[in-house]
Amino acid sequence: MQTNFLYNIKSFFQDIIQHFKNKMFSSKYVVKGKCKRCGQCCSTILFSDENGYIKTPEDFIKLQKRNPKLFQFTINGIVNDVDKDNPQFGALLFKCKALKEDGRCSQYFFRSFFCRDYPAINSQFIQMGGTTLDGCGYYFDVDKKFEEYLK
Ligand code: SF4
Ligand code: SF4
Repeated sequence: MQTNFLYNIKSFFQDIIQHFKNKMFSSKYVVKGKCKRCGQCCSTILFSDENGYIKTPEDFIKLQKRNPKLFQFTINGIVNDVDKDNPQFGALLFKCKALKEDGRCSQYFFRSFFCRDYPAINSQFIQMGGTTLDGCGYYFDVDKKFEEYLK
């Protein structure tokens, strides 16, 4: 029990640090648009460990033991619409138990910094192609057009 408590404190501070990193990185970019409450971002989540994306229920159970916050998620599918040499191929997709049928969050006021920042602009968003999920109401843009930097 104490291990979980200490883990939660550590995890909380890691979330805050990531939150400020996102803010610093995002200074060159802006998030535009509006949430359409499609629920995609809360039901097609990928998790990874030191070996890459989680691809088996057994590996997810191991990860849950290390991070009790992950008991909030259930397996919701598998990535099979990318090339086989893509590291995401075969990765499990997860759904948050707090997602309601109407696409709203039942823990909205208590959701994590990770959720509050979504869609976050950080170094991973470049690796993911700099785009949001297909059909998401948000999109990324640069804060100034190239010509404005020349003035
Ligand atoms: S994918 Fe985008 S539009 Fe859909 S619920 Fe998430 S933030 Fe909102
Ligand atoms: S806590 Fe709410 S916002 Fe965060 S993943 Fe779950 S349903 Fe989505």
